[in-house]
Amino acid sequence: MFVAVDDTDSVRGNCTTFLATEIIKELSDLDLIGCPRLVRLNPAVPWKTRGNGSLVMKFGHGVGKRKFIGMIDGRELYCYDDLDSYEPDYENIMKRLAPLTEKYCEYDANAGLLISSQRSDLSFYKRGVTTILSREEINDEISRIGALTFTTGNGRGLIGATCGLAWVPGDVTFELLAYRERNKWGTKRQYDLDSIKRMDFEFPTTFNNWEDRRRKAAIVPSTPCPVLYGLRGDVLKDVIDAANVIETEKKYRWVVFLTNQGTDDHIIMGARELVPNQSYLIRGKVISKAGHIEGGHVFINIDTKYGMITCGAYEPSKEFRFAFDQLVSGDEIEVMGELRDSPRTLNVEKLHVIATVRYVEKVSNPICHSCGKRMNSVGKGQGYRCKICHTRERNAVIRYRNRWIVPGWYEPPVCSRRHLSKPLKRMGLEQPVEFIKV
Ligand code: ATP
Repeated sequence: MFVAVDDTDSVRGNCTTFLATEIIKELSDLDLIGCPRLVRLNPAVPWKTRGNGSLVMKFGHGVGKRKFIGMIDGRELYCYDDLDSYEPDYENIMKRLAPLTEKYCEYDANAGLLISSQRSDLSFYKRGVTTILSREEINDEISRIGALTFTTGNGRGLIGATCGLAWVPGDVTFELLAYRERNKWGTKRQYDLDSIKRMDFEFPTTFNNWEDRRRKAAIVPSTPCPVLYGLRGDVLKDVIDAANVIETEKKYRWVVFLTNQGTDDHIIMGARELVPNQSYLIRGKVISKAGHIEGGHVFINIDTKYGMITCGAYEPSKEFRFAFDQLVSGDEIEVMGELRDSPRTLNVEKLHVIATVRYVEKVSNPICHSCGKRMNSVGKGQGYRCKICHTRERNAVIRYRNRWIVPGWYEPPVCSRRHLSKPLKRMGLEQPVEFIKV
């Protein structure tokens, strides 16, 4: 039996992952099959609250090996690899989960809860993570799989629930989410920064948790939600061991989720046409040097098979913007990012410099070989002439500028990365040059 839920929180509070822990607690007469799943969907969806995450869990009677994956209210939480043929009474489960969803739902959220014996079609995950879907398409799929539903508000959460339910894990990562004691919700979080740094250095399979240059923890949210921190990594056991290194206020609960974070699943490659609110990998040639606007945002135009595209690197991406300052006309690059509708720009999440041109700079007009005086320009593209000796010269005095940017991949610092963006660390790569402001 699958349970999928989305859209219960708002920026004011609550968190669908916390509701997932409440669902697990409520259904403690059943076993969890596999880790609960935190499935991130299209990050360009305009009506998302934060990270567009949908939650999916599988329950039944577990058989085979079990894994330790959390602590809920003092009880160890395990998940099983497999299940037997037992099927719970779905109507009865809905009677237990609907009030829980209502209880942990913000009044203006549009919750969608699904209980289903089968997955939705895989195509719904692919479209859910890359495109914008309509309720009609989702309703047809829910009828096809015969799922039970519960909704609040306009029930838009059913879109995310259906798309998350369709995810068949391929490239996967883990996130250990730790929650605060209830009386602490909305207050300042207590944690030791150095212990997070230590954890980051001791556990190389973890990623996107610590930003060394700015000494910033990327695991601690700033919203008033129940989450204390979220620790991301590639290996289940490592995220559990790594969490033990971090010193914080008392953890009320913690659970490891299986996720599609850090996989680039949202990127459309080789698109025939570009549609706003979707994310792409696009290759092009730089047309002109980067321009800056107020607020510290940087823009560059590239020539692509789709025509000219303006690419933006915004202030929160900090030193990532400096890489764009180093690009010159003719450089060949690939950019990954979300295409915004208005203004129509591609918000760059990752930059791949494929080839750089030799950058020539004019130093001065040439010197006349006979009299040693500086020559004058005859006209655009027509060379130079000495006013006194009438000698001619085709070219100005030039110099080749050093190029500080070299081919390779460039990414924003940890705190400004998207949940779905695959960090270079997971690609087995390292940024070839670090640009910093001095
Ligand atoms: P959080 O990350 O804090 O859990 P969120 O960012 O997931 O919040 P929600 O409040 O869940 O934000 O809002 C996202 C909404 O967008 C949900 O209603 C979800 O069903 C819907 N949605 C998700 N993916 C798509 C999609 N591809 N097309 C259309 N709607 C979508």
